[in-house]
Amino acid sequence: MEPLPRELVIGAWGAFGLVVGSFLNVVIHRLPLADESVLRPLRSRCPNCRHELGALENIPLLSWLFLRGRCRACRWPIPLRYPLVELINAVLWALAGGLSGRLELALIHAVVLSGLVVASAVDFDRFEIPDEVSIGGIFLAPACALLVPALHLETWVARRMSEGGGVDRLGALMGAIAGIAVGGGSLLFVGWLGKKLFRRDAMGLGDVKLLAAGGGFAGPGAALVALFLGSMIASVVGAANLLRFFCLSRARVRARRSVKPLGRSLASARIAGRYLPFGPYLGIGIGIVLLAWKDVARLVNELAF
Ligand SMILES: [Zn+2]
Repeated sequence: MEPLPRELVIGAWGAFGLVVGSFLNVVIHRLPLADESVLRPLRSRCPNCRHELGALENIPLLSWLFLRGRCRACRWPIPLRYPLVELINAVLWALAGGLSGRLELALIHAVVLSGLVVASAVDFDRFEIPDEVSIGGIFLAPACALLVPALHLETWVARRMSEGGGVDRLGALMGAIAGIAVGGGSLLFVGWLGKKLFRRDAMGLGDVKLLAAGGGFAGPGAALVALFLGSMIASVVGAANLLRFFCLSRARVRARRSVKPLGRSLASARIAGRYLPFGPYLGIGIGIVLLAWKDVARLVNELAF
């Protein structure tokens, strides 16, 4: 049998990702709520008027476009986040299908990426990362390593612990455990250091658990690179945020024709911009090393040695 054309395979992964993304929206909405389970009620409802969505109102992406972003019953504007989560998840699944090579590996990567989407969206909303995702990932990673040792084919510890040339089950398990320890440990250390230096809690425990889970899937070296990448992206976004609040403050001063020293504007901008969730940026870092660890590792090697 001839293999399917690559474009078709990647397109199919994207289409699956779109459908899964639609389910992720339900998870993101219901996970933090104590009285709603992810699977019950089975039918989706409008969060505003409780109108039960029909099959035609529930097609990923297309329904949102046809309904022009509003609930059919109450005209409530459906947040842009819903189609965005579906689209992002579709792209991530297409990337996992196209880059991860083997089917079982692509599937693990796709599920982990979806977990990161859920963690990021809930963190944006509520400044917390659900334990179902982070602790769930910490338990899932060693199980996946045992089932699919190829998950840690690029992990140094896993290769060293394996018999022969490749990576065996025990080696992959060791790679996952080392990744969990280094991922969680490094962020705990950064948090402890931040507390010593700046005398305030800089790091949430949710971030620690998320990077531990990410390390379990990507390996210890990849976890450190993910932390570095995530911190870089978060710094850029934080600086942009600071600038935005500073400009807002100056615009208000000009509009009122009052005088406010530049230093005061800067201080209030710092307070306004302080609360930035770290989970989404950490998630981007984990996603990058998960999909492109081979290339990232080569780059780090070239730069460092
Ligand atoms: Zn409605």
